[in-house]
Amino acid sequence: MKVLDAKFVKEFIKTTELGFSLGWHERNGGNLSYRIKTEEVESVKENFVAKEWQGIGTSVPALANEYFLVTGSGKYFGNVKENPEENICIIELDDKGENYRILWGLVNGGRPTSELPSHLMNLEVKKKIDPDYRVVYHAHTTNIIALTFILPLKDEVFTRELWEMATECPVVFPDGVGVVKWMVPGGKEIAVETSKLMKQYDLAIWAHHGMFAAGRDFDETFGLMHTAEKSAEILVKVLSCAPQKRQTIQPDEFRQLAKDFGVTLPEKFLYEKEAKNLNSEKELEINVY
Ligand SMILES: [Zn+2]
Repeated sequence: MKVLDAKFVKEFIKTTELGFSLGWHERNGGNLSYRIKTEEVESVKENFVAKEWQGIGTSVPALANEYFLVTGSGKYFGNVKENPEENICIIELDDKGENYRILWGLVNGGRPTSELPSHLMNLEVKKKIDPDYRVVYHAHTTNIIALTFILPLKDEVFTRELWEMATECPVVFPDGVGVVKWMVPGGKEIAVETSKLMKQYDLAIWAHHGMFAAGRDFDETFGLMHTAEKSAEILVKVLSCAPQKRQTIQPDEFRQLAKDFGVTLPEKFLYEKEAKNLNSEKELEINVY
């Protein structure tokens, strides 16, 4: 089978297209990776031409000898659908999980995403917890980024605020959301911090930068990113209208929701908020957490 005829490749391309259409991938912003199933590798391996081994920049032994479909470094999501072979690639890892080589794609040269260490370390963490996890997606989600300038950079605060702004959120991501303070992207350090959060969450926010989402398939992973970003958009709109919420979903109501929907919501996110005095000077502050 030709690589571009494979279902997983079509779904990968569709995901880049969807993200681009929502404005999350200006210029070469964002990246996507998929840990390819054995049978999928078998179905397309006749097309593979191996290039030279390169260092990953980190070590992911639990992913040794596995294959990944990833976006290219410096490549634009907006170009993937029209020219996938120039903008994405399939790579293979060596038997230590320390080096990779390109087997298909990036026909005009290039290398996998500069965030390859973050993608692989996240995929490794997720694989150890649940071998069905296969997708990691990084996008520059506008409203989540905006909130990282005004909310405290705490998992509890971001989780609670996102849960409050759309009733589906606690059901879609009951484990919550993690937050990484601003760090230089592209290296091992930010990859380590993100992968620590991925042990607990499927979503990690990079302050003033964007989000990482992990999931079992493309729909689930994209849907998770989309749901969190939609919720952030509602909060941005609310805060644009008024400095505080007049009413919102209360901790006991979340507990009732959890019961009815059969999800477990960690109590650390259901903290009591301080009552705000609307007549004080605080009224002028953006004070929602
Ligand atoms: Zn980025």
